[in-house]
Amino acid sequence: MTQTADFIIVGGGVTGLLSALFLQELTGAKVVLLERHYMGSGQSHRAAGVCRALVREPAVAKALSESLCYFKTFSERFDEELPVHAVGYLLLADPQQSESIEEAMAAAGEAGCEAQKIDSREAAELQPGLREDDQTLYVFEPGAIHLDPMPTLQAIRRLAQRRGVKIMEGCEVNDILLSGDEVCGVESSCGRFHGPQILMASSFWGARQLSLLGVDLPVYSHRAEMAFFQVPSKTTFTLRRILSDARTLLYLRPEGDQQMFVGRRESDRIESVSDMESQDPDQYKQTAEFESVVDIHRRLEITLPPMQEGFVHRTYACVYDMTPDSMPVLDQASSIKGLYFSVGFSGGGFSLSPWVGRAMAEFMVHQKRPAQIDGFDSNRFAEGRSFDWSNVARTSSS
Ligand SMILES: Cc1cc2nc3c(=O)[nH]c(=O)nc-3n(C[C@H](O)[C@H](O)[C@H](O)COP(=O)(O)OP(=O)(O)OC[C@H]3O[C@@H](n4cnc5c(N)ncnc54)[C@H](O)[C@@H]3O)c2cc1C
Repeated sequence: MTQTADFIIVGGGVTGLLSALFLQELTGAKVVLLERHYMGSGQSHRAAGVCRALVREPAVAKALSESLCYFKTFSERFDEELPVHAVGYLLLADPQQSESIEEAMAAAGEAGCEAQKIDSREAAELQPGLREDDQTLYVFEPGAIHLDPMPTLQAIRRLAQRRGVKIMEGCEVNDILLSGDEVCGVESSCGRFHGPQILMASSFWGARQLSLLGVDLPVYSHRAEMAFFQVPSKTTFTLRRILSDARTLLYLRPEGDQQMFVGRRESDRIESVSDMESQDPDQYKQTAEFESVVDIHRRLEITLPPMQEGFVHRTYACVYDMTPDSMPVLDQASSIKGLYFSVGFSGGGFSLSPWVGRAMAEFMVHQKRPAQIDGFDSNRFAEGRSFDWSNVARTSSS
């Protein structure tokens, strides 16, 4: 049976879901979201859910700040509980990185998210157990949060459905249908859907489908590894803040009182496409290699000496949809009318998703690129307009 919709969203991750919600809110039209598995089953359910605005690029800081505000006010505005952990973000860096950190503080401040340099005593009060060190630069962004990804997704989903978005899980889009040089629908495992506007919010899978239509995007799969560590037994030590250590290239956030999620700052580890560990996103080893766990533990002890006695609780691996500058591509196909895409989130899409959702909805409704996503187009790589947004510049010690 053929169904119709004004807007068809392919992909039920956090970015597709928020785009569907904003489209519905903006238009009241018929919005259908098609997800091949269950909602969040792609990268979204694996996210650490860290949201902060301390980055060097003003446009990105603004986007992160808007998204932070959206998440923080969500429960109050929509009567749906979001699991927001308001613990703040503590960045540890080498004094050589001072200049880029100043730029990041300025960009975040301009975007409405203040971050301050603090001394080692204040840092130790915020997070007991830090390595005591006068050679470290500490910056604290008190407004940063982390979210539990799946309960967050479910809360947004309930709101979207209440507003009228039709969500179909277990519904794989196999073909994008064209009529001349315009899209006219999709063929899926749940039948055919007709519609004049389609958003591909389906990560690397979407990039692959787009390439079959002649839309080639520099979105690469890159396998990354992370681990949950448990604090030593018989200790009161606990991780209280989101920590990001620019020297060891690790980031951590609390996982309850006894554990912490520890991942690597992948976009800072990767200098070029050749550093990426290409993997099939549907077929890859789901746990971290032993050598990686040892390496992560060694680095963790540098940031938090009490964790020397801590132990690995479990590990996992994931595949990120990387772009050369680790920022997403938010665009429309130049040769196919009605075909839009938001892909390539490079391990940072959760914290951008409300901004992305709003921008893509406006893009599709007005059929004109909104100013806030200027620069996030697909031509930027060829034209040398890539973003340099990380809050620290590389050092040789990294
Ligand atoms: C370990 C880890 C930690 C992370 N930590 C953070 C963090 O702290 N902060 C942050 O901002 N971001 C973080 N991220 C990144 C973030 O999770 C992703 O960038 C974000 O979830 C991407 O959302 P998405 O909607 O674009 O993609 P996805 O969640 O991957 O959704 C795409 C969906 O499309 C579906 N799909 C694919 N093909 C089809 C098809 N043909 N038909 C129908 N559906 C299809 C897939 O099943 C999938 O559900 C992390 C990611 C990982 C893996």
